[in-house]
Amino acid sequence: MSKILIIGAGGVGNVVVKKCAREKQVFSEILLASRTKSKCDKIASEIHEQEVKTAQVDADHVPELISLMREFRPDLVINVALPYQDLTIMDACLQTGTHYLDTANYEPRDVAKFEYKWQWAYYDKFEKTGLMALLGCGFDPGVTGIYTAYALKHHFDTIDYLDIVDCNAGDHGKAFATNFNPEINIREITQKGKYWENGKWIEIDPMSVHMPIDYPNIGPKESYLLYHEELESLVKNIPGIKRARFWMTFSQNYINHLTVLQNVGMTSIEPIDFQGQKIIPLEFLKALLPEPSDLAENYTGETSIGCQIKGKKDGEDRTYYVWNNCKHQDAWKDVRGQGVSYTTGVPAMLGAKMMMTGQWMKPGVFNVEEFDPDPFMKEIGKYGLPWFERIDVPLAFRDYHD
Ligand code: NDP
Repeated sequence: MSKILIIGAGGVGNVVVKKCAREKQVFSEILLASRTKSKCDKIASEIHEQEVKTAQVDADHVPELISLMREFRPDLVINVALPYQDLTIMDACLQTGTHYLDTANYEPRDVAKFEYKWQWAYYDKFEKTGLMALLGCGFDPGVTGIYTAYALKHHFDTIDYLDIVDCNAGDHGKAFATNFNPEINIREITQKGKYWENGKWIEIDPMSVHMPIDYPNIGPKESYLLYHEELESLVKNIPGIKRARFWMTFSQNYINHLTVLQNVGMTSIEPIDFQGQKIIPLEFLKALLPEPSDLAENYTGETSIGCQIKGKKDGEDRTYYVWNNCKHQDAWKDVRGQGVSYTTGVPAMLGAKMMMTGQWMKPGVFNVEEFDPDPFMKEIGKYGLPWFERIDVPLAFRDYHD
């Protein structure tokens, strides 16, 4: 029995709160708070398994968070607002004695840069107060780290090569939209790509390395090498890894729109003067684009996200592919959400359940791959994200098989 505060009532928040409400024996009291209370009320009105309370909060302000948390007294905060709010929410957790979980690492508003260093720096404070913070418990980051930990525990003595492959073969019917918060999504894609090889990070121009990858039940899709935050923690936590990369699919239509928007300056985060006030072009663009939750109703097709791994077991080469496919329509049927929000929100709920049932609970700040993957892997399928594996079959990357 635990009390949880969920912050953020967007695409992911909708999934997390609905999934948590069905686990009444674990999450016995739920408060959903966000910047716009009407969005919380709308989600809460669609939930019948238990009462979900709602509140308005600006999570950029620690005192506001503290007074809300002192009043409700949650055991855990699930942060599914934006990465900008990670540190303020962690500060409020420390001051109120509350555990913490999120799905995206901190980034400062004025620099498009995401790194774990700011949140890892909270380790001692969380450990001293006997609190736990679980970072990056969505799908990627999140399940991809748990898949890798599971592979290492059951199928490998050492992991040499890791490629995380992320495909969205869905169609939302809009000319251009992003599947999670547009500002965060565009900041991620327009920055330089980066991967880990032989002990160092290699930087590449944005979207300059790409190749077709064959996804289960979908077929080949052009996939682009990006920097993604779980690479940073996996390189730290998987001993001896030689190379770690992340690939994501984009349609030609998406790339064409993004290129034009970039060329005319609409993706910039530098403030400009507009009719007597300062505006940030990317924030203005976000206001024009559909919200991630608005894409859900008529979204067709599916996502496929997994880990392709090569390493050694008992002195022999081994390849391993573990993945999940998620249909957008199934997410709609289950929680009136779309597949990308769903694949993020379901693991956040299950990570919270792991913490609140004591299966994953120790003081400090951790990434998901630092815990025993087995209880999570055992349960994730029944919540809507079943996983599949292939052992010792050819994978997408030719150098795995040289
Ligand atoms: P949305 O834009 O749909 O939702 C964000 C929500 O946060 C909105 O309800 C917004 O309120 C609220 N919010 C923003 N600022 C504040 C604030 N200062 N105080 C309180 N609430 C605030 O985004 P998503 O739901 O798609 O994404 C949520 C998070 O999930 C993001 O951090 C994203 O990076 C992460 N994510 C992680 C993935 C993973 O696999 N690990 C994949 C996809 C997303 P308002 O409605 O008023 O603007």
